[in-house]
Amino acid sequence: MLFSQIPGHPETKKLLLKSVQNQHVAHAQLFIGSDGSANLALALAYATYLNCEERGEEDACGHCASCTKMNRLVHPDMNFVMPVTTTKSVTKDALSQSFLTDWRVFLLENPYQILNDWMQYIGAENKQGNISKDESRQLVRFASLKAFEAEFKIILIWLPELMHPAAANALLKLLEEPPAKTIFLLVSNAADKLLATILSRTQKVTVRAFSDEEVIGYLQAELQVPEADAFQIANLAEGSLQAARKLSQELTSDFFDFFVKWMRNCYAYKFGEVVEMSDNFQKLGRENQKAFLHYALNNLRRVLLYGVDARLVPFIPPAEIDFVTKFSKLIRPANAALLTEELGNAHYHIERNANPKIVFVDSSIQIAKYLKS
Ligand SMILES: [Zn+2]
Repeated sequence: MLFSQIPGHPETKKLLLKSVQNQHVAHAQLFIGSDGSANLALALAYATYLNCEERGEEDACGHCASCTKMNRLVHPDMNFVMPVTTTKSVTKDALSQSFLTDWRVFLLENPYQILNDWMQYIGAENKQGNISKDESRQLVRFASLKAFEAEFKIILIWLPELMHPAAANALLKLLEEPPAKTIFLLVSNAADKLLATILSRTQKVTVRAFSDEEVIGYLQAELQVPEADAFQIANLAEGSLQAARKLSQELTSDFFDFFVKWMRNCYAYKFGEVVEMSDNFQKLGRENQKAFLHYALNNLRRVLLYGVDARLVPFIPPAEIDFVTKFSKLIRPANAALLTEELGNAHYHIERNANPKIVFVDSSIQIAKYLKS
């Protein structure tokens, strides 16, 4: 993984590059970010940069012996520990090492995937993954080995918050007396669940969620998603690139048009048309119904913000500006709160298998009232 392959995050990349260039490489670093963020990708790009034989100012070279191995995640000095569980093919002694081949393919496919994706990938079904107490022996072994060919030996632990206490204690001992030329990269989604003693021994690298602009750029460049769809997906993905990737495969309908038509019919009290629309709503299927209501909520929030101060909404696709401007005149904090509650209730009922047509029509009646109030 190279820094250049990760969308955006110029400030974090700069910080990481500088630490290597100034030889201030902390022996334990904690990459904190939420699900679908760039924390794992950045840790991998950082590891690649650390051991690159021809480092550039802004990235690893990508073609030296070290980079070539890092690109395929087969560098002998790059060690991985991640949550696993027993599966159909690994029926006992579920340790990271047993899943290394799967892990490489999984990561190379896309480093923004989340724990649930990994569990599905290894066939864990409904089992929870963790980093078992037996993993502590592996950690100690990694730490005691000399680097084979690189300057640094790297131990990357994905989701250290899922460590069994015995494994966490083994890690703590290693952090207290760090082996020479060994760098621990902890990639976490929930740093508050780590031992305070581990936390205090790591240097934090806070990785923010992806911005809408970064998500849109990625969807267009990597997945050839049309601009209007990319805007819609970014609105729903809330900074998770993995959520955006999934949405780009799932969303089939144009939520914006549907939302505009819905609000217009509600405002005009055209309930005959609302009932017609409820058929289309039903046809979306439950997951898309939920996604649409979620989209409607986000859109409402955007319109409200726009009405307060247009500068609060940095991105509006050209095709949507006219609607947002007009609709913002109808939305005030008081009715926005009621509308938000109504959409939230609709989402709740759909999630609990209520009849989608009835939910849609009921909500429309309330929304019509609130839009006029
Ligand atoms: Zn290189």
